[in-house]
Amino acid sequence: MKTCAVVGINWGDEGKGRMVDLLAEDYDVVVRYQGGGNAGHTVVNERGKFALHLLPSGVFREWVMNILGNGVALDPENLMAEIGTLRDAGVAVTPENLAVSERASLLLPWHRLLDGLEEARLADKKYGSTKQGIAPFYADKAAKKTVLAGDLFHPEELRERLAELAEWKNLTLKGVYGAEPVTMEELDAWIRDYCEPLKPFVRDTGRILRDAAESGKRILFEAQLGALRDVDYGIVPYTTSSNTLASYAPIGSGLPTLKIGEVVGVVKAYSTCVGEGPFVCEMFGEEAEKLREAGAEYGAKTGRPRRVGPLDLVATRCGVDMQGATCLALTKLDVLCYMEKIPVCVGYEIGGKITDRFPFPADLAHAKPVIETVPGWGCDLSAARKWEDLPGAARKYVEMLEEAAGCPVKYISVGPERESLVIKEG
Ligand code: GDP
Repeated sequence: MKTCAVVGINWGDEGKGRMVDLLAEDYDVVVRYQGGGNAGHTVVNERGKFALHLLPSGVFREWVMNILGNGVALDPENLMAEIGTLRDAGVAVTPENLAVSERASLLLPWHRLLDGLEEARLADKKYGSTKQGIAPFYADKAAKKTVLAGDLFHPEELRERLAELAEWKNLTLKGVYGAEPVTMEELDAWIRDYCEPLKPFVRDTGRILRDAAESGKRILFEAQLGALRDVDYGIVPYTTSSNTLASYAPIGSGLPTLKIGEVVGVVKAYSTCVGEGPFVCEMFGEEAEKLREAGAEYGAKTGRPRRVGPLDLVATRCGVDMQGATCLALTKLDVLCYMEKIPVCVGYEIGGKITDRFPFPADLAHAKPVIETVPGWGCDLSAARKWEDLPGAARKYVEMLEEAAGCPVKYISVGPERESLVIKEG
């Protein structure tokens, strides 16, 4: 059985969607195993340009079975809207090619509301949430205060349970935030409008995956965000609320004992970070503006301008270690073509000492980047398809990353389109 996880090495937005869309060619099943509708995986293919939020990026391949595993934050409203958008664009999403785990917990109507209320309360201390309800959802999942997708098939118990949960949650909505309580009428409308249409997709996806594994099918796991956003190992508290690491894929998918064969770590040729939190290698001013424009660095979900910086080898090495990457996919190398000299962050200075180890979160606030420059290549790379097509300076850049990260680069992406790719052999 061939298994592979495509994961982010840094802060997210590395181009995972683009890589999954490409690699899905060789897989039968594509699974999203964590996170929710706060993702923004951009895929450009012959069908057009799409920003996928919750759906796996395998939906564009007719033979692929796409699965939303038990580890995702399943927002019926967002999911049904996304399925509608794809159908409008002529992409079929049916129970034939999408299955949702009966064990996935449902993101409830108050989660998004609470996310926005808490960010507003935090004001200038906000976490930079996309306000999709992800943090309140995972908190309630851990507290066992939500319902499972499979509960939709038990309507009476579901209503009873939702009424109990609403009574409890309204204490917070009214008491803490002074907000309007959620009513049972609203919950009934939510069940009718979004949960009923979801039901045909809900299945025992663990069984589908075990059957796929037993019959030698090829399974691809698609992560959301990057290693530094992992709730346990990332830049706490500026992480997401789930585990973004490859090691969580078996648990969040429904194959908890699986050992994944290949882990493709996606790294961008420079750094970007959306939202708040420490970002040691951040660039400012005109230099940052130029890079942001060149790379079109605006959030796929929120449209927020992304913070940008040079390739951060300290953070990247840490991400590669945490992900257990067996190879790397370097994306957006084409974007750096305008730079005569390319800055690279090779270390952090903390309290007068230079380190190449990614520090404990509280130390990040005091870290300063150690920047070196390497020669640029000064030409367009977008037509490159073979290693030999890349100019010497671009090849050196790739090799520098391999050496610093201790991991081979297998894929080099030189454009957003499927075919804009160089495969580096051996
Ligand atoms: P993801 O969340 O990791 O899938 O990443 P995003 O979709 O948020 O961001 C990646 C962006 O870069 C998308 O707009 C892609 O179309 C684009 N992209 C991916 N690879 C390349 C590349 O090699 N070159 C260029 N110019 N754009 C790319």
